[in-house]
Amino acid sequence: MNNKINVVKPYLPNKKSFLNRVEKILENSVYTNNGPYVNELEEKLCDYLNVKNVVLVNNGTSALSLLYKALNLKGNVLTTPFSFVATTSSLLWEGLTPYFLDISPRDFNMDFSSIYTQDIPDISCILPVHVFGHPCDVFKIDKFAKEKNAKVIYDAAHCFGVKKSDNSILNYGDASILSFHATKLFQCIEGGAIVTNDDSLAEEIRSLRSFSINRKGEITGVGINAKMNEFSAAMGLSQLEVVDQAIKERAIIYDHYYDCLSSKYYFPELDSDVEWNYSYTVILFEDEEILLSKLKELNEQNIYPRRYFYPSLDTLFKGDVLCDVSGSISKRVLSLPNYPGLEMCIVDTIIQILLR
Ligand SMILES: *Cc1c(COP(=O)(O)O)cnc(C)c1O
Repeated sequence: MNNKINVVKPYLPNKKSFLNRVEKILENSVYTNNGPYVNELEEKLCDYLNVKNVVLVNNGTSALSLLYKALNLKGNVLTTPFSFVATTSSLLWEGLTPYFLDISPRDFNMDFSSIYTQDIPDISCILPVHVFGHPCDVFKIDKFAKEKNAKVIYDAAHCFGVKKSDNSILNYGDASILSFHATKLFQCIEGGAIVTNDDSLAEEIRSLRSFSINRKGEITGVGINAKMNEFSAAMGLSQLEVVDQAIKERAIIYDHYYDCLSSKYYFPELDSDVEWNYSYTVILFEDEEILLSKLKELNEQNIYPRRYFYPSLDTLFKGDVLCDVSGSISKRVLSLPNYPGLEMCIVDTIIQILLR
């Protein structure tokens, strides 16, 4: 095998559709500043995702930052230690304090089952992650947030197209963020979005993302530059034409891994009312030593699964609580290659190595 097999590979079967849009951008000479493709993509995403407001931005991390500002968060934010680093580092970057709640070994999401027996400090917000696109217990979170008078922002970076009981998972909480980074299921090279049912919050974010300059050209506050450019939006529009097919192809690969490996490895569990997007294929090892030896064997075949997510973020940033479950799972979890066009013979090679 000459080609390196990574966890993901961006998908673009309709290259012409993208290049046609790029030609148009060059003809019109509108490269950024909420141009026609950004507006078109926002509208189409509202339809596709079945949500009220989509505000496109330059990446998922700035989507988080903008929400912290717009919701005027202060002090502690209750969050998960098991995520990509940006979930926690964005809080620290904005001067907020992450307070880590351990995760459930069932689905690796924040575990709210025993929240009332724990000593939780005052919090201004809860920031859960629907990790690997598996929805959190949104009803328990909502109830707890109301009691604490706290906002809820979902880091839904992995949740493109995920539904719970036929409703988009993005419709819960005060807002959700999506990431459209090149490695994500739906990608805009770099990009992200804020999704919210709150029209005035959406309006506020639209202003903040563009220096807080309003339609009349007046500066109304302290904003930042978090605009998506037209080339990224063009990529998004072309992705939208093929994303259903991409999800179908990932599902076939996931099911094959699951059929062959689930008797030997644990796969995080999904609630039966969830329509999932197959965004990640994740398995849990018995211990880290076995994981490292299998990883080495796979690397020797030029196959590069990733340790998503390692290390547990409470250990990285020295939070207030020790999260034993997250600490243990992050040492033993591996994300396997799964993307449209990945050849089944490579999937079988991976499976054989993991079963040896
Ligand atoms: C990718 C990711 C982000 C950050 O998104 P960017 O678009 O790369 O800034 C945040 N949270 C999670 C859980 C992610 O996987």
